[in-house]
Amino acid sequence: MKTIAILGSTGSIGTQTLEVAEANGDLRVAALAAGSNVELLERQIRKFHPKLAALASEEAAKDLRVRVRDLDVRIVSGMEGLIEVSVMPETDILVTAIVGMIGIRPTIVAIEAGKDIALANKETLVTAGHIIMPLAKEKNVRILPVDSEHSAVFQALNGENGKQVSRILLTASGGPFRGKTRKELENVQPEDALKHPNWAMGQKITIDSATLVNKGLEVMEAKWLFGAELEQIEVVVQPQSVIHSMVEFTDGAVMAQLGTPDMKLPIQYALYYPERRYLGGERLDFGSMGRLTFEEPDEETFLGLPLAFQAARDGGSMPTVFNAANECAVSRFLHKQIRFLDIYEILQACMEEHHVVENPAVEEILAAEQMTYEFIENRW
Ligand code: NAD
Ligand code: MG
Repeated sequence: MKTIAILGSTGSIGTQTLEVAEANGDLRVAALAAGSNVELLERQIRKFHPKLAALASEEAAKDLRVRVRDLDVRIVSGMEGLIEVSVMPETDILVTAIVGMIGIRPTIVAIEAGKDIALANKETLVTAGHIIMPLAKEKNVRILPVDSEHSAVFQALNGENGKQVSRILLTASGGPFRGKTRKELENVQPEDALKHPNWAMGQKITIDSATLVNKGLEVMEAKWLFGAELEQIEVVVQPQSVIHSMVEFTDGAVMAQLGTPDMKLPIQYALYYPERRYLGGERLDFGSMGRLTFEEPDEETFLGLPLAFQAARDGGSMPTVFNAANECAVSRFLHKQIRFLDIYEILQACMEEHHVVENPAVEEILAAEQMTYEFIENRW
């Protein structure tokens, strides 16, 4: 019996994690944290009986306390609440399925408390990987990837010597706008960008997939997770999303992980690693699949990828600026305050403005985030 806690239990990854727990029947849920969806969190509490639950605002927490007063569960709120959920003594694995760099502090305290991390929250690793990875090593804690590409790489590395890796080949679907020109992207709306061809995900990551910022964040995520050099990481467009990523070794052998696009597989793999469990759902049918195709990413149109590589090369606090600018720009695009291509303009302007702080501490990361928000606030 393993015990888990989930940050972001009402989201796309959070709800699928609970589906995995329900299907297996041997995962105990100690604590859940969500943003503002009181109704869904209440249903989750009634079904999974956590001892602790958190919501973003104290107002929402008050509402929930009234709703679940018949149950033995404590309701907390805010960053303190997220932190309490992250360090619950009985938890073995913390699933970080919250969106954005708000996950930094909770992830760090969970590692300090000796929890293994099933990591979906890539923004945290992108901005604080230089703190998180050494800390995890020191505390003998495992960072288990939930992101499908990173899970694929993790699976391909099973039983291999990491020193004999020559390249990590991250696959990308290319998103809903693959093949479009800059001109054609001028007037695309959030509704268009939210139609991902292969995956149903939260809004922010779906927009990130359309801009290729998601793949850029994943390059940085892979760098930290697998201790790779940037030059070893390549992005390959695989529009069918059948190959979830690949690893090439020094002898030229390439190991790939294939499957239907279902996040429950990487979630379950992270929760039970190194064990594989039965997982329902469709299987690949190679006879009827037809073609698997590959392309190079269009880096002239989709600037999310080259800008991410630039931020990663600059290092220090620059990935934080890249990520914070993106979080802010995506939110504005979703609210129809800016146009699609403005996202790239904001990223570029914020990065040009920033003076890199080397090896930033948590406070410096949060300060760089704040400065980026203020810069955008004043200019757009
Ligand atoms: P989502 O928007 O569907 O869910 C986010 C969750 O975080 C929700 O439960 C929300 O209530 C919660 N949340 C937001 N702000 C909060 C706050 N201040 N306090 C507490 N909870 C808060 O997002 P998602 O698609 O599930 O993505 C989550 C993370 O996983 C992201 O970092 C994303 O990049 C990553 N990821 C997602 C997928 C996917 O298929 N959805 C795949 C790979 C990686
Ligand atoms: Mg991914």
